[in-house]
Amino acid sequence: MSRFFSSKYKNLTPYTPGEQPKDTQYIKLNTNESPYPPSEKAIKYASEASEKLNLYPDPTCSALHEAFAKTVGVETDMVLATNGSDEILNFAFMAFCNENCGAVFPDITYGFYSVFAQLNNIPYEEIPLKDDFTIDVNDYIGKNKTIFIANPNAPTGIPLSLSQIEEILKGNPDNIVVIDEAYIDFGNDSAVSLIPKYDNLLVTQTFSKSRSMAGARLGFGIASKEIINDLNTVKYSTNPYNINKMTIAAGIGILEDNDYTLNNCEEIIKTREYTADALSSLGFTLTPSTANFLFAKHNKISGKEIYSELKENGILVRHFDKEKIKEYNRITIGTKEQMETLVSTLKSILEDR
Ligand code: PMP
Repeated sequence: MSRFFSSKYKNLTPYTPGEQPKDTQYIKLNTNESPYPPSEKAIKYASEASEKLNLYPDPTCSALHEAFAKTVGVETDMVLATNGSDEILNFAFMAFCNENCGAVFPDITYGFYSVFAQLNNIPYEEIPLKDDFTIDVNDYIGKNKTIFIANPNAPTGIPLSLSQIEEILKGNPDNIVVIDEAYIDFGNDSAVSLIPKYDNLLVTQTFSKSRSMAGARLGFGIASKEIINDLNTVKYSTNPYNINKMTIAAGIGILEDNDYTLNNCEEIIKTREYTADALSSLGFTLTPSTANFLFAKHNKISGKEIYSELKENGILVRHFDKEKIKEYNRITIGTKEQMETLVSTLKSILEDR
């Protein structure tokens, strides 16, 4: 730390992203990316846009907003595009929390929530998940704080039903409830349908998972016009050109190829079910994940050992050191072939014991 670093950030522990190895020797199942490339239109439009990189992008993202709003079935002024959904989450902490209105989220969830809270000097409460890693909705009633819930949750992959989300919304009418739908497209119902009914709901989504665009950095907030207005105030006070030209173009392209996304999601769901069955047969315990990843532990080998042995065998998964989940690994669903390799590698690791 230099002697110039602001004292307000002295105790900040930054988020640790999953490993992004420079070589391609690994089967990469550690950061929940899609195993499928972006659609043809996404690539074509991004490439055309690259020819105009001497010009700033459209700060209003109007064509992209229109295409996305149409896809999710809301009006255009009810969406806001951001640089990954990480940015909309940070905007939500900035816009809807302060020293008097803190944040609340589960103790086991997306690790960036606590970092955003610290970054913005916001007090936060972490509510323990139940022993089976589910969220007890009753813990989130009348909190008087801004609520952040990933649905399905990460890294467990366990979803809440829309009626459970409604209970939380009804139980906190004077606070914003953020539902982070990074993994919604792998067999879950989106809370976007609840937006007309609840003026305290902000839904966030990402193009990093189901839409194969993690490298482009594109996320969205979806909410009432008033909430989107507030988030726009934050956006135009930080980075009006937050989405680059190629990402805007690729985003429009992938939305025009929506069937491609839907087919990929179907494929990933099928591969998830295949992998879950195969891992169970090998003696793994799994949470009931409805995301594009599984969360698994084995009763004979520690989570850390499985992570290391897989890495030695060319397969990267995500291990977290947090005490409560240290026996588990989060395994992204790749192609069927990749998952067959994972299963056979795990089989030989277990046989060698
Ligand atoms: N929310 C959750 C629950 C996530 O796991 C992630 C991915 N790391 C994000 C949000 C952010 O994704 P991105 O910034 O790529 O949209």
